[in-house]
Amino acid sequence: MVDGDALPPLREVIARYGLNAEKSLGQNFLLDLNLTGRIARCAGSLQGETVIEIGPGPGGLTRAILDAGAKRLIAIEKDTRCLPALADIAAAYPDRLEVVNDDALEIDETALFDGKAKIIANLPYNVATPLLIKWLGERERFSSLTLMFQKEVADRITAVPRTKAYGRLSILCQWLCETRREFDISPRAFTPPPKVTSTVVTLRPRETPLYPADQEVLEKVVAAAFGQRRKMLRASLKPLGKPAEEMLEKAGIAPTRRAEELTTQEFCALARVYADQ
Ligand code: SAM
Repeated sequence: MVDGDALPPLREVIARYGLNAEKSLGQNFLLDLNLTGRIARCAGSLQGETVIEIGPGPGGLTRAILDAGAKRLIAIEKDTRCLPALADIAAAYPDRLEVVNDDALEIDETALFDGKAKIIANLPYNVATPLLIKWLGERERFSSLTLMFQKEVADRITAVPRTKAYGRLSILCQWLCETRREFDISPRAFTPPPKVTSTVVTLRPRETPLYPADQEVLEKVVAAAFGQRRKMLRASLKPLGKPAEEMLEKAGIAPTRRAEELTTQEFCALARVYADQ
């Protein structure tokens, strides 16, 4: 085999290697090559790029990333049953695909490449948010993250103030990255279909966070505020153990406002006051 065109259709691959979807591994496979191509394109040009894919499974998105021109693709898959199918893809795209049989939650993927990489993945839903939080901690090594989440998580990542989905994840992601909702994918596009709609989101880490603040302090203040999101801030910030009304006044925020009304800029102002108190 010399290229991806010679590879069998994904349904055949699944049958040949007995890849019955395993619920505990969040396995909902995408077999539509138009869709996998569309996801890969959300990451921008892949020419000359190193790409990390989490959970390649039978390899639909893997093939799309290689077809889009990625120079090097490191695919991390926990399920050993998928390895023979992925070995066939590696043979069809010589010297471009490396498959690592490991748990994405445990592995330090930044040790596998030099410089920067792009992450592209149809994530297993049960570990999607912890993986995103982990990558935000290593964001200087990633030029972009194009990730498929269940729609409800994508809503939280991209939410604006005064909406139900707005909260800790929205503030952390938007403070550290530019976030962009790409498109929704119906459950029918997957084998087997999940219960929920999926959404592709691209996050591009900022050179520096949007406003100055210490991350640990910001996360603490935001957690306290949203811990009791319906209460006024003068009450919800009490567990922080510093005079809430005084802090709010110094940050220029009315004490009667509620967590979901505050912008990232205002939370950063509050975090700076808290750190100085
Ligand atoms: N990329 C394939 C596709 O789009 O058809 C499969 C996506 S499926 C939603 C999630 C994949 O992640 C499965 O192949 C599953 O085995 C793998 N997976 C689940 N948990 C994992 C983990 N902790 N580390 C690495 N891979 C994992």
